[in-house]
Amino acid sequence: MADAVGPRSGDNNSSSTGHDSENAAVDAAERIDELRDQIRYHNDRYYRQDAPEIPDAEYDLLVRELQRLEAEHPDLVTEDSPTRIVGAAPSVAFAPVTHRVPMMSLDNAFDREELEAWAARVARGLDLDSAAAPVGYLCELKIDGVACSIVYEEGRMVQAATRGNGRVGEDITANVAQIADIPTALNNAPAVVEVRGEIYMPVSMFETLNEAQEAAGLPRYANPRNTAAGSLRQKDPSITAGRGLSMWAYQLGHVEGGPELAGHGDALDWLNDLGLPVNPERRRVATIDDVIEFTEHWLQHRHDLDYEIDGGVVKVDGLARQRALGSTAKAPRWAIAYKFPPEERTTTLKAIEVSIGRTGKATPFAVLEPVFVGGSTVQMATLHNDDQVRLKDVRPGDIVTVRKAGDVIPEVLGPVLSRRAEGLEPWMFPTECPSCGRELVRPEGEAHTFCVNPACPAQRLARISHFASRGGLDIEGMGESRVALFIEKGFVTDAGDLYFIPWEEVAELEGFGRTSIDNLRAALEASKDRPLASLLVGLGIRHLGPSGAELLARHFGHMDAIMTADTDQMAEIDGLGPTIAASVAEYFAGDDARALVAKLREAGVNLEGPEASDVARTLDGMSIVVTGTLDGFSRDGASDAIKQRGGKSPGSVSKKTTALVVGAEPGVSKLSKAEELNIPVIDESGFVRLLETGELPEGD
Ligand code: NAD
Repeated sequence: MADAVGPRSGDNNSSSTGHDSENAAVDAAERIDELRDQIRYHNDRYYRQDAPEIPDAEYDLLVRELQRLEAEHPDLVTEDSPTRIVGAAPSVAFAPVTHRVPMMSLDNAFDREELEAWAARVARGLDLDSAAAPVGYLCELKIDGVACSIVYEEGRMVQAATRGNGRVGEDITANVAQIADIPTALNNAPAVVEVRGEIYMPVSMFETLNEAQEAAGLPRYANPRNTAAGSLRQKDPSITAGRGLSMWAYQLGHVEGGPELAGHGDALDWLNDLGLPVNPERRRVATIDDVIEFTEHWLQHRHDLDYEIDGGVVKVDGLARQRALGSTAKAPRWAIAYKFPPEERTTTLKAIEVSIGRTGKATPFAVLEPVFVGGSTVQMATLHNDDQVRLKDVRPGDIVTVRKAGDVIPEVLGPVLSRRAEGLEPWMFPTECPSCGRELVRPEGEAHTFCVNPACPAQRLARISHFASRGGLDIEGMGESRVALFIEKGFVTDAGDLYFIPWEEVAELEGFGRTSIDNLRAALEASKDRPLASLLVGLGIRHLGPSGAELLARHFGHMDAIMTADTDQMAEIDGLGPTIAASVAEYFAGDDARALVAKLREAGVNLEGPEASDVARTLDGMSIVVTGTLDGFSRDGASDAIKQRGGKSPGSVSKKTTALVVGAEPGVSKLSKAEELNIPVIDESGFVRLLETGELPEGD
């Protein structure tokens, strides 16, 4: 190495090609060392500390660069390179478990070409004529969680372990035994069966957990994967128990006894029969085109699922073929992960600013160097509140990780501390409202800070825009910039004024032709007939969402009755809760709210709700549990429909349950509980009939 450095430092003249290539080799060797160090550091953070510092996509780039350099310089490949090693050494905090069959990683494909190259290697490895010959693949979802191996002997769970470095993992039996979806006993099990699966945290659970963290002034968790990993590797299993983890089993490990199986798909079916949770979204396909179709579909629908996926996994289905293909040091040759584009990236935090919402809430947000993440370019991302900025310690000038998953607003997860420039100062929450200049107030015990000036222009804009938005009275064409203009011109001070805009003055403004004015007026007229629930949502009352508004509208039947109801009367409504009741009562106690409703009444906006008697009480005394996704109902919609008909809609199955309604991707624990207790299980069409008639389909 020292010899090789000599020519490089002495050679400033690039005429010698021999020296050039030596220089390149030295550069490569240095870069390889640097990359290996960086990857080892990030492996430790990710696998052992459950606290990665950089997004997966950026980690993958480091690994790819190392793979490329090692392929170009085979003499520099070493056995201990991270490209040849699975995961990281197990932590000494847990007892070691030696896997009887190694737990491997997966090779990755990032585009169609790489997938086709893999298919061609498979075809060659199997001596098939061409890559087009039908190999028979099984497509699965790549669950973004933590790999786990569970051994059952005579049908009883005896050991659960993490993957660790692939050969030796960590004993987490006590923790895994606490996960409700993972059975501790199997049906008709052979002498020994080892199952591998991905333990994950459902997205809904992750959100609930983060709400609780925020309310307690604690830092939000970064993403479901790391939270699942942290929840699983707890010394106290009762902590794991409270984290609502689940698992999808995706692979058979060591087996003694059991049936003869021809394909991987058959193995998964068998695992399902044993009582293990196996993801229903798996498909046997013949060609790479079918594989692409499967992954494209899930790329579009990944956020319809209550768990995170980061791609698809394609496996050669035939087990004999899998054996013939074998593995490399790190991954099987018969499988590949087809990775989705990333939902987390890093970028520069240019500044932190504060926006004022319709309730006066002051939310800090990050102004970012634009970055393409989660399918769109992100330039702003929420930082939630003062405590979160301080807990995350993000500072203007930092490189930060940004997350954008589906429709959820982009979020800054945290700084990349190893890349922080010297001298960056912590950010301080402003003491004055950036819009009206009045003092900002953080009420005792509240996580949020507020501008309490009801005349604050920013609040006014947010309130009126919300009133006109889709979720409110849906006034087509009345977007934020138009509302801002009408406020600026003094035409509107609250949402009620929208119905009394002086159109002759608007006609004199630039950009307002006859057609656009006619369209706006027609949209305002149409908005007068919207349901009372939409109007209630449009008022922007704190904590009141669409389902609470629907309950209020149905129960009281008129805005006047809601305005005069007291907290106790509202809290009596099944499903509404005391927080919403108190917030609604407080809202209508204010003079501004009453003045607004008076204007709306004068304008002729509908204030009447549907009559409670419109809906027959077909489900009186019944308890209906819903699991999975229904086509015609959202989760809240299904539960409202049950409650409106006099029924109850609890979250779990018990002896008192009348029926379990099952949609796509049902919760395995609910289904097995219903079967155990002999509770009728019905599909969506049965549910619709039940709502109408109160009768269960025959035969159930
Ligand atoms: P991997 O996560 O890309 O793929 C292998 C794993 O996928 C398996 O071990 C299994 O746990 C999981 N998996 C999920 N669904 C599966 C299915 N249906 N069938 C089979 N396996 C399934 O590889 P890896 O070796 O665990 O880790 C590498 C990846 O981890 C990187 O690509 C990166 O995304 C992430 N990582 C990130 C950092 C970081 O600092 N951000 C550090 C290390 C690793």
